[in-house]
Amino acid sequence: MRLTAKPRAGMGVREGARAVTTEPGYKNPNRQIVVNKNGAPSTTRDNQIVYRLRCELCQHEYGCNGMDIKARLCPKCQGGTAGEPLRDDASQASLF
Ligand SMILES: [Zn+2]
Repeated sequence: MRLTAKPRAGMGVREGARAVTTEPGYKNPNRQIVVNKNGAPSTTRDNQIVYRLRCELCQHEYGCNGMDIKARLCPKCQGGTAGEPLRDDASQASLF
């Protein structure tokens, strides 16, 4: 009998398998979590779309293109660059 799931303590990022950074639920080393695919076009990178990220520390939500997720810092509490514009989640269904 042993505990297998016990995050919370420190920076418990143990991604053995390769993590898909655009997958909802993915958390980068800076504790920014992918909420979902927003679908708005990125304003900073060509041919990228924006994902909604949430900061685990302050719960701030903002947009981030797929390429920058893995190293993103929270624009609010970690001094990261400002979030990219998100579009209405309501229009998301038509993306798939
Ligand atoms: Zn934050």
